[in-house]
Amino acid sequence: MRANQKSVRNGVEDFLCPFTDMYITQGSNGGYSHQGIMANDVRGKEAGIRYPYYAPCTCKCVQTVPSYGQAMWQSTAPVRFANGRVDYATFVTAHDDSFDVKVGQVVPQGVQLGNMGTKGQATGVHCHIQVSQSKDTSWYKNKYGNNQFNNEYDLDDCYFLDDTNILSGTGNWKYLKDVPVGPDVNTDKAIYQTNYNMRVRSGAGTNYASLRVKDLTPDGKRHATSKGENAEAIYQKGTLFTAYQEIKNQDGSLWAKSPSGYICIQDSNMTYCTKQ
Ligand SMILES: [Zn+2]
Repeated sequence: MRANQKSVRNGVEDFLCPFTDMYITQGSNGGYSHQGIMANDVRGKEAGIRYPYYAPCTCKCVQTVPSYGQAMWQSTAPVRFANGRVDYATFVTAHDDSFDVKVGQVVPQGVQLGNMGTKGQATGVHCHIQVSQSKDTSWYKNKYGNNQFNNEYDLDDCYFLDDTNILSGTGNWKYLKDVPVGPDVNTDKAIYQTNYNMRVRSGAGTNYASLRVKDLTPDGKRHATSKGENAEAIYQKGTLFTAYQEIKNQDGSLWAKSPSGYICIQDSNMTYCTKQ
């Protein structure tokens, strides 16, 4: 991420990679000091430079170990991780030589969180980062003597790499586009009118893509059963309703989420609802 970068979708912050340039010098379960833990050591573009890193989400300092330039942070609300999970983030950063953070301090997403450094046991300037996808702050030594969380995930399951230059280090890195989010409840609203009696499917949730237009007919009768539905409503012809626009099904049909559920706007043959 870049300085001051933010990403909020559907009211949930996306957990961003805190580094602008990422050169991984030791990965998860690394033989040097990461045995049994999901942590990365990251330096910047040039070795030895104390590059800043930024808050991946809005987070609060919950614990410090100043002699290691180490802080434990926790998101102030659930965040969206790169594996699609939405949960609290609890994470540790370490080796910041210019460490001055205090417990209780809140850092908004995108604001500088610290600097790479060598404080504590570190060979070469870097930031050690380790992420738990939970609110659990348990932090204990494993059998190799390395501290770990209960719900650690590998970093490629945690942060989105948008606007991060990957200089070295392999991973199944993900970007915001890899984890699409449904319609934003605060935007994208439009008013539609039904051209037929329309059957509306609710309870589809993220399964709307599994619904098929052939399951809907203009007379509102069901001709097939689709999965992912557990309730339904009918809008009479001429009904006006507010919906979130442009949810593209995989077959190319356009759906919208109405207050009663998902409704087909159009497919390649017909326009079922007209935008007002
Ligand atoms: Zn480390």
